[in-house]
Amino acid sequence: MKEEFNLQNLVRSNVRKLQGYASARDEFKANKTGMTFLDANENPFENGLNRYPDPQQRELKSALVKLKNVKPTQILLGNGSDEVLDLLFRAFCEPKEDNVITLPPSYGMYRVLAEINTIENREVFLDEDFEPHLRAILEQQDNNTKLLFICSPNNPTGNSFDARSIKNLLENFKGLVVIDEAYIDFSTYESWVNFLDIYPNLVVVQTMSKAYGMAGIRLGIAYASAEIITVLNKIKPPYNINEVTQQHALKRVLDIDNVMDEVETMLKQREQLIPELSSIGYIEKVYPSDANFVLVKVDNALQRYQELIQKGIVVRNRTQEPLCENTLRFSIGTPEENQKLVQVLKEIDL
Ligand code: PMP
Repeated sequence: MKEEFNLQNLVRSNVRKLQGYASARDEFKANKTGMTFLDANENPFENGLNRYPDPQQRELKSALVKLKNVKPTQILLGNGSDEVLDLLFRAFCEPKEDNVITLPPSYGMYRVLAEINTIENREVFLDEDFEPHLRAILEQQDNNTKLLFICSPNNPTGNSFDARSIKNLLENFKGLVVIDEAYIDFSTYESWVNFLDIYPNLVVVQTMSKAYGMAGIRLGIAYASAEIITVLNKIKPPYNINEVTQQHALKRVLDIDNVMDEVETMLKQREQLIPELSSIGYIEKVYPSDANFVLVKVDNALQRYQELIQKGIVVRNRTQEPLCENTLRFSIGTPEENQKLVQVLKEIDL
């Protein structure tokens, strides 16, 4: 399979031919001191943000290089991982011709992005254990199947998929396998970033919105081969990561020890919360979680959702998702918030 894989066959023909936009800061790198910059039509009066940000985010990428043990050419940054996912559609999927495979119940944006980009979305439901159906997935692919979205740990179910299944898909799927690792920092499983050199068709998507506590700055990351990243770079908006985001993201990446301490606390909270939830009468099932949320099955999700709202707690009602009838998803909060959740859940147990 490795010899056969030819990325250029997957790239949309207009993108393959495209000469990308070269911004002022692409043509002349801004990190030279002593230069007078009259090239980008900026306001010259210094206020800290009057200059365009680095379009290639070199400083932030070099911090990520050390953290993830990849090369800078293997990283693309996006305005949230939602932008990264959208770029994947626009780079590889020809509207009205190509198709992608998604594995519901999973993160809803894959379907929405497929619809926005007029790409057929072939849904192969997970099995009752929320694991992928390998044979059914591989049977769905044809010459126009470009992307397979695997979310592991999966949202909203909370489980990580068996690594052997993912390996099998990486070896047998002919398009790109996009592994969304938004919740990987909470997981006991190894990140697929460590396997980029083995699988030329692998794209790993991560985000600073979850474990890193930076949802407000919007920073998503794609790790892939330099060849895949070159294609994505060609179509990204020139200055898609603003200066404030680059600064805050860098600070947080360099503060990795504190990030990991917070993750530790959330994981401990999750372990405490699960038995408490299981003891509540109308909670019929607490699904195993490898993420910073827990999915539970209740007697009546809409009713319980509304009761929680009345008591000032907002959770996610996932009852409309396939295989998720009468489920609610609880994010892990602070110890105080989790205590309040348990207390209120008990109060409404009438
Ligand atoms: N992937 C998954 C699985 C998610 O749950 C989310 C957000 N809920 C995202 C991606 C999007 O994250 P971001 O904030 O980086 O756009």
